[in-house]
Amino acid sequence: MAMFNTLDDLGDVTGKVALVRVDLNMPMDGGSVTDTTRVRASAPTILELADAGAKVLLLAHFGRPKGQRNSTMSVSMTLDAVEDVLGREVMFIPEVSGPVVEQSVGILRNGDIAMLENTRFWAGEEANDPEFAAAIAANGDIFVNDAFSAAHRAHASTEGLAHLLPSYAGRAMEMELKALDAALGNPEHPVAAVVGGAKVSSKLAVLEHLVGRVDHLIIGGGMANTFLAARGVDVGKSLCEHDLTDTANAILDAADQAGCTVHLPYDVVVAKEFAANPPSLRTSNVHEVAPDEMILDIGPQAVEALADVLKTCRTLVWNGPMGAFEIQPFDAATVALARTAAALTSEGSLVSVAGGGDTVAALNHAGVAADFTYVSTAGGAFLEWMEGKELPGVAALRA
Ligand code: ADP
Ligand code: MG
Repeated sequence: MAMFNTLDDLGDVTGKVALVRVDLNMPMDGGSVTDTTRVRASAPTILELADAGAKVLLLAHFGRPKGQRNSTMSVSMTLDAVEDVLGREVMFIPEVSGPVVEQSVGILRNGDIAMLENTRFWAGEEANDPEFAAAIAANGDIFVNDAFSAAHRAHASTEGLAHLLPSYAGRAMEMELKALDAALGNPEHPVAAVVGGAKVSSKLAVLEHLVGRVDHLIIGGGMANTFLAARGVDVGKSLCEHDLTDTANAILDAADQAGCTVHLPYDVVVAKEFAANPPSLRTSNVHEVAPDEMILDIGPQAVEALADVLKTCRTLVWNGPMGAFEIQPFDAATVALARTAAALTSEGSLVSVAGGGDTVAALNHAGVAADFTYVSTAGGAFLEWMEGKELPGVAALRA
């Protein structure tokens, strides 16, 4: 694994100003945060720095204000939630640089925590303008990046600052990088990848990268339909990208060449309408889907075969549900496979890493997210990592 400085490498930070990039882009309803996962993830980093005597300045973006001040997107809307999670008072500073920040820092005591305004109120953030980054850096002594979820963007607060100040990965960033490295960077083989979700087109780069790295590629969800169609299966009215059958075949060929076994379902769960427990619900061999039916989940035989594959593996990386899991009973395969992976992880035979918005929701629905080795809530950054891309915010931290 590439080497990063972590909080273990800090030395004495008493009285130093730590600019800490966190993810405060949390869902809101009626002016309050509805899910505090993201600030909870960075709480250990913030508190560790504060308890070590640093003056902590939180830096984050919130929404898409496109380089202009916008009172409806002030990051201060998260202040109450942040104070609740941290159990500390947090001062709000309505700037990210300049004399207001300088004066505010002047009145902070060691161990105090303050929150700077939404970095995206300034165009220099997304442009990664060196002058903007330098203006922020002028009020800090060290930079700590704890926002893996923003690391796929080369912005001033995610990338630029790391070139200007001594930089460290925060605890959440460190944990995420270690987990991802154990899953795909430097994994124990055999490695299985489960890839599902709606469309092949949204995950082409992921599939192309994975075939060269994993021993088993398990394809489910809507994207399995495209692969089945590419193999000449009539998928009826299923969600299917018929224009991508050549691409799907190319991926299957590449897998063959790389010695990666691709697993497509033998049986599927079909229905004529997209509704909970529809009367037309049935399980079918993939070769017997009627023209007016839709494949909405992979079938029980497939699930059993895949569970057997997972039992032979040491590492699992998972993105995308196996079926339309939001609607019963099309959650069955996702839930069953997730429980198998969780059980194998608990037994110590599998390192399991999962990510993706809907995937995290599906694992929570299955009640097993806590049993996975690591579940990434990073969304776009997680997918880019699965594509094998070097994330600029991570690269800039390299010691
Ligand atoms: P993630 O957010 O974890 O990256 P995606 O957004 O790619 O996952 O895919 C999740 C979506 O895929 C879900 O909304 C789910 O209903 C849908 N999906 C999965 N299987 C099917 C299917 N067979 N037909 C239609 N939609 C499906
Ligand atoms: Mg999604």
